[in-house]
Formats: sequence, C-alpha cells, structure tokens
Amino acid sequence: MSGLSRYVDLEPLLERVGRPLQYVGGELNSQVKDWNCGGEHTVRWALMYPDAYEVGVPNQGVMILYEVLNERADTLAERAYAVWPDLEALLRGHGVPQLSVDGHRALGDFDVLGVSFATELTYTNLLTTLDLSGIPLHADERTDEHPIVLIGGHASFNPEPISDFVDAVVIGDGEQAVLTVTDLIREWKEAGRPGGRTGLLRRLARDGSVYVPRFYHVQYLPDGRIRRVSPRADLAAEGIPWRVAKHTVMDLDDWPYPKAPIVPLAESVHERMSVEIFRGCTRGCRFCQAGMITRPVRERSIEGIGTMVDRGLCATGHEEVGLLSLSSADHSEIAEITRGLADRYEGANVGLSLPSTRVDAFNIDLANELSRGGRRSGLTFAPEGGSERLRRVINKQVSEQDLIDTVAAAFAAGWRQVKLYFMCGLPTETDEDVLGIADLAKRVIDTGRQVSGRRDIRCTVSIGGFVPKAHTPFQWAGQSPAEQTDARLRLLREAIRADRRYGSAIGFRYHEGSPGIIEGLLSRGDRRVGAIIEAVWRAGGRFDGWSEHFSYQRWSQCAQQVCDQLNAEHGWELSLDWYTTRERGELEVLPWDHLDSGLDKEWLWEDWQAALAEDEQPDCRWSPCFDCGVCPQLGTDIQVGPTGRTLLPIQPR
Ligand code: SF4
Repeated sequence: MSGLSRYVDLEPLLERVGRPLQYVGGELNSQVKDWNCGGEHTVRWALMYPDAYEVGVPNQGVMILYEVLNERADTLAERAYAVWPDLEALLRGHGVPQLSVDGHRALGDFDVLGVSFATELTYTNLLTTLDLSGIPLHADERTDEHPIVLIGGHASFNPEPISDFVDAVVIGDGEQAVLTVTDLIREWKEAGRPGGRTGLLRRLARDGSVYVPRFYHVQYLPDGRIRRVSPRADLAAEGIPWRVAKHTVMDLDDWPYPKAPIVPLAESVHERMSVEIFRGCTRGCRFCQAGMITRPVRERSIEGIGTMVDRGLCATGHEEVGLLSLSSADHSEIAEITRGLADRYEGANVGLSLPSTRVDAFNIDLANELSRGGRRSGLTFAPEGGSERLRRVINKQVSEQDLIDTVAAAFAAGWRQVKLYFMCGLPTETDEDVLGIADLAKRVIDTGRQVSGRRDIRCTVSIGGFVPKAHTPFQWAGQSPAEQTDARLRLLREAIRADRRYGSAIGFRYHEGSPGIIEGLLSRGDRRVGAIIEAVWRAGGRFDGWSEHFSYQRWSQCAQQVCDQLNAEHGWELSLDWYTTRERGELEVLPWDHLDSGLDKEWLWEDWQAALAEDEQPDCRWSPCFDCGVCPQLGTDIQVGPTGRTLLPIQPR
C-alpha cells in the first residue's frame, strides 16, 4: 500500500554505507504526518534538495516550504536529499526505491516531487532520484500513477536544459506558490481528477502558477539559434500565457518561516539558525543573478526579525544566529538590529553573524558590534574585480582607496586577517586586470602592518570563476575559455609568490576553470542540452558540484557526441563552445525569454552596453529609479525603511 514506511528495507543497508545517520531522519523539529491527515484528498509533497544531506539540510528554501505545507491540515510534506553512490548501488541491488528521510516513504508515492535547485551542477542528481523512484526520466512518459515533478529555486529561472525531465516549474518565491499549487491539486482531486495528470498540469499552467515546458513549442533557425518559443496552439487558446511571470512575496513579515528550523543529527555545513532579514538586492552587480532575479528589495521589520530570532533559538537550542540576505549590511535598520540583538543576547552565549562583504567602514562597525566579547576570526570583503576599470564594468562601485581605507579601519580596530573575494573570467578582462589582484593584496598587507605595527597580518585571496547567467546584463557575454582563466590564475599566483616580502602573508585559493564551463553550459543552455545531461548521467555523472565526482572529460565527450548528432540531423552548429564562449547578439531569442523575471530585456541590454562602456549604475535604493522594469510590473515600490522602530527588550531564555 502506498505511503507505508519502508524503513525495514532501508535499515539493513545502512551499516554498509558512509554516514548512515543522514538517511534516518528524526531530527529535532522534523515531522511525520499521517498519510491521510487530510482525508481522502490529502495533498502529499516530497521536498527534495538534490545534493548531499550535509549541504541540503540547512537550506532555508526547503525548510520554509516544509513548514508552510505541514501547517496545513490537508497536506503533508516530507524531505529528501540526494543519496550517495554507495547507497544508490545498494538500493538498486535490493530493489528498494529512494525514500523520504522523514517517514521513509517511497518518493514515487507522493503527489508532488518538489525539487529546489540552487545550482545547475546538481541536475544529474535529479535523474538518479527519478530513476531510483521508478519515475520515468522523461516527463512525457509519466502516467497518472507518477508524482508531478515540480522544480523551483534560483537555478530554475532557466529550466530549459532540464525541461525534458520536469513536469512544471515555479519561478520566483515559493512559499505562496506552493499553497496555490496545493489548493489546485486538492480541488482537482475533489473533482475526480478530471483529465488526469495532463488535466492537472493544464489547470496549473492556466492559472499562471507554474511553467509547464511541455506546453511550449521551440522552433530553431537554420544555424541552431532559437527562432521562437510559443505555447502550443491548442493551449494558447485555452489561456496558457505566452510569458510566465515569477512569483513575488511582497511582505516578508507575513511569512516568518522557518519558525522551528530542523536541527540535523548528522554533520552539516551550517550549524546555526538563520533569519532572512530581507530579500532582493538593487546594488546592480552585473554578474549577480541572485541580485537581479530577486528584485525588488523587501525588508523584514525589526520586530519581525527579533521575534524570529527569539522563537528560533528556543525551538532549536542553537547558539549562533546568522542574519541572512544577499547583502545583509544593506538593511536600512541594520545598526539598530545588530545593536538590539547584541544587547539582548549579551552574556547569553549566543553568537550573531552577519555575512556581509560590503567594502566600507560601516561593515567594520557592524562586525565590531557583533564580535563584542566574542572571538574575532576574519573579515571578508568582495571587490570582485582586480582593477578600477573592471570594477566599473561589473558595476561594483568600489574604488581601491575605499578598500584600503576599510581594511585600515579593520586593522586599527584589532582585526588581524581579511579575506578578499574576486572573480576571474569577467567580460572584457585582461591579464593586467587579474594581476591587479596581487597589487591590491600587497597594499592590504602593507596597510595592515603600518596601521597595527605588527607582522602577523594576513590576507587570503579567494577566486571564483565567472559564469554568465540568465536574466543578468551579462547573459549575452561570451564566457572566458577555461584555458584562459587557468592561465591568468597561474600568472597571478606567480606574481603573488614572486615577492618574498609577503611570504605566507598572502594566501591564495582558486578553482580551475573547467567546472565553470559546464555550469555555463547548463545555466544558458536550451532544451537540447537535456540530451547531454542524460548522456552524462548514463555515463555515471553524479554530484557534479563535488570536485572528486566531477569529470570534465565526461561532460565534454557527451556534449560533443550529442551536438555532433544533432548537427548531422539538422545542419546546426552546436558545440560546447557555441553554448558557452559564444557572445550572443541583441536580437537573439534567448532560451529563457518567455520566462519573466520582471526585468525588461531592453534594460538588461542597455546595462550590458553600459558595462562595455565602463559606465556605472547607482543603487536605486538610494538614488532615482533607473527603470529596470520590476517595480511597475509588480505594482509596487522598493520597500526600505528606516521605520525608526527598535527591538523590545526581552529576557532571553
Ligand atoms: S523598477 Fe526602479 S526602483 Fe524598482 S528595482 Fe528597478 S530600478 Fe529599482
């Protein structure tokens, strides 16, 4: 019978796998509801984060949806994470399907398998889960017996590369959207499931709640570029939209989730509770997809934050609270929030952290406030580009002097180490731009030694490869080839090491460029990339975000085979380079043009041209609106304080 716990099948396998605790569930604040908690028409969700438990369990998105859904009496939600290859082999060998971690129920038994994608490099893990769960890989081969495979998360803003494998996509904020989807599923069940699975998908698509890739038809030009994406004629007449808009939750105070975060039993990457203090960002860094797709800015109120911190600490017993957002120091009342919380929890053994990489003295003030009485590890700043010119291209709006003044303030306040974050492979980048990173790091050390009068000053330079993303001004850019990125990073390492005066004072961390090329293929790919993903998965591709599992050779070989075959059939010019290092033209139809992130494509193009002209665009939070398109479309304004309110004093428990 469906919905039964299969723990009895799983348990004997656990002694033969690494870290078995990750599969057993039962964590503090986890839930197992009755399979029929809402009666005959209960709506059942399996919520999956398609990476290892240790990465997935702290994920805020999954935790929020888990609570929002489980609060409904007619709904149950259970969690799942990707299983490691050792358990995958055992499950296959013993004919056991993939199970949820809460009730150990087969994922194939749920109504919806909801998968949250934060990164494209987890796409192959989706195929493992589908296969282990007995769900056909291809959406068009599924029957009424199979769950609806619904995806969301930032990496779903261009879902085209995995569109063969998913039934529906929620674009944007998920908390309200999953409730609407649940209502529609329940109504469809109560009505006797008219039209079966396709009938349900039609209802969901008509309502605008989800994007159903199968309902859209893609036509190509002779060279392989896209001519047009349109709803299938019969469905357009039924009201399926030509463009699917993103969901946006307007008032975060209406959504104070998670209220009782899961406390993992096994090790996880973050051992703290987190409160999202605002959503969205208008700084306008041109490389940043998260900043672009989450506009407009929506702040949580100071009282809302205070309540969530208090309630979350009581519910979890955590001793550290992270105040999360894309740029946490930008909350208009962040000084009051940090002071209020630091006062409230002084002496209560509760640490506060504020992940912020802002390059200014205000950030140091906040860090000083948060570390009072506590340990001082290091400060992180993100100039992102090594030269003034490149920082204008990416719209970082940070000068070298800003950085030096800021680190001087940090070292004067007693900090001893700073971490600087940069990207390599940015549009228009030259060797000189990258070598500028070495000069900056040396100036930072010189400044620290001068200001503090000490020699134990350290600066770690951490470098990530730039990957152009959909819905950003850099969506048209040609990606830097991996060999070019690697060569520049070698030059930089030599430049840092060549000067013995800095010895071990400057640390250097970077990753090689080839995984970035595959991420680039997946982030700007179209539907034809699905065949490459499937070929990679069939050739053993799993956990591609993990360097020990990632194989560039496997990806490039499969890409070539698939592209060669498609080119031979259609006369196209597809290749891995075509998808990654090729610069797109203004009029090219991009695979995600029919998915509406709220940003005007014309504005994105103008901003791309401004980047090439090295023109900066100020933050619209503090300067006039520059018409990116988001606010008028949502009928709103960016929500920023200050409100002048403060935290009420309470006695921490
Ligand atoms: S519409 Fe204007 S105010 Fe709103 S996010 Fe865009 S630029 Fe900023």
